Amino acid sequence: MKLLKHLSDTDALTGLSGRHNYNERAQSLYHATRLQGANFGVIVCDIDNFKLYNDTFGHGKGDVVIKKTADVLLSSTRNNDLCFRIGGEEFVVLMKVYDAENLFYAAERMRQGVEALAIPHVTERGIVTLSVGAVMLPPQARDWSYTDAFDYADKQLYAAKHGGRNQTVFEVVKTDQVPVLSLRAKKTLLNPHPNSP
Ligand code: GH3
Ligand code: MG
Ligand code: MG
Repeated sequence: MKLLKHLSDTDALTGLSGRHNYNERAQSLYHATRLQGANFGVIVCDIDNFKLYNDTFGHGKGDVVIKKTADVLLSSTRNNDLCFRIGGEEFVVLMKVYDAENLFYAAERMRQGVEALAIPHVTERGIVTLSVGAVMLPPQARDWSYTDAFDYADKQLYAAKHGGRNQTVFEVVKTDQVPVLSLRAKKTLLNPHPNSP
């Protein structure tokens, strides 16, 4: 029964948690974090120009990119953090965080980790990249639901896409006690074609 439960909760391609139990587990970590009076972090990631990757290199190679991206997310997080594959090339990472800096750096480890894989692509940058939206919800943001937090992180992801992709857009939710904090990170690649002869 334990094995069956594991299989039904796990995305076969990546080994991350799948969609099946996403809502239940997300809500559960969210409420536990609130009860502890701790900061809650939501990171939403989406592989850039992935349709073009599939169309150019084939679905099989696309699957390899999804798996490698999932491995980067796992190596960027700690054991108690939750990593989900919620769509084809979309991921959500949820964590209790000590402060904004911790969350921002976790998000950037993901983006920079995918960049460092240097997987050749036919985009202007020449490699596969990841856009990241992240939000930290302080315990004072009492009227926010998990869905509100997710939607807000998704909005930051949209801003990252709109801002040119391969970037992290991060915001701390503003409350009466906590001022708004907004950060954006992107790195210019020194060698956009590392695998070229
Ligand atoms: P953007 O930078 O705006 O995110 O553009 P995009 O092309 O990545 O986004 P779009 O949503 O247009 O395309 C996502 C593609 O992901 C479409 C589909 O071919 C591909 N996809 C979805 N699920 C899988 C999967 O399991 N395996 C593979 N190889 N591709 C998948
Ligand atoms: Mg997508
Ligand atoms: Mg995409």
